[in-house]
Amino acid sequence: MRFALVDGQRRIAEKGLTGVCPECGAPVLAKCGEKKAHHWAHKRQCSDTWATGKETDWHLGWKNCFPEAWQERILKDAQSGEKHIADILTEHNLVVEFQHSSIAPEERCAREQFYSQDGRQMVWVVDCVQSKRDCQRCLSYIKNHNIDILKSSIILFPDKFFPEKWIPVTSVPVVLDIGYWMAPHDVNGVCYEIMPCLFCILFENHKHYCCTFFFKNDFISLIKNGELYKKIELIIDKIILFIKSNRATHRLVHPSCAYQYFGKRFPYKKRYYYKGGKRKIGGRSRQG
Ligand SMILES: [Zn+2]
Repeated sequence: MRFALVDGQRRIAEKGLTGVCPECGAPVLAKCGEKKAHHWAHKRQCSDTWATGKETDWHLGWKNCFPEAWQERILKDAQSGEKHIADILTEHNLVVEFQHSSIAPEERCAREQFYSQDGRQMVWVVDCVQSKRDCQRCLSYIKNHNIDILKSSIILFPDKFFPEKWIPVTSVPVVLDIGYWMAPHDVNGVCYEIMPCLFCILFENHKHYCCTFFFKNDFISLIKNGELYKKIELIIDKIILFIKSNRATHRLVHPSCAYQYFGKRFPYKKRYYYKGGKRKIGGRSRQG
């Protein structure tokens, strides 16, 4: 972590300092090597099971995109007394969690629930740069579908392109950091780092998985000025309008609606077989 308490003061790690973990109260040591960004480390594991212990430069790099006062804020459940550190809590009540390692689905849901309570909102930022497979699949989504980067779309089979563990299960959006820089696409000729953002809409009892894209810089500004959720809600409104206006086509492409569209049976090719010199219709291949 970046901050520990030294004589009751929140401080960043400096050579020779010792402090205590603001969450569990255990002693922590300042690690100020040359290779990794300066940080605090527990002598033993933090009593908070959500604190992963090892923190990567990826993690610290992301946290540093935001004001220090927003970083590593302790949140407490008033009823159960459960405490956890949020990577970022903005002044607009948005929690941003940066996740480098994969976590179990139950734990992910527990965290979403914990961080989203008391009127807070939450967003995940997931490190996919480490996984070549994840990156390539995300890129194949962009390239195969010839995605217009500024357009949001419904994804029918999200696990075909995106990390299975990070397909949204609740309304909490998941932003994938794939470290992909797009070639200049507009007049000012600047390269942009783009990040896919997955989210899920529940509309007319159907879960619709959607994908939109953020330029990394825009994403950070949207968090800073408290507009991220407003932006996502606008996108959701557009997608719902799209679904409504394309209902018939939508049935065709939406697997769970296809059944209704085609009637009782999917059309299939009839096959014949011969028995006792007579031609019969049936599912078996031709006999005798
Ligand atoms: Zn601790």
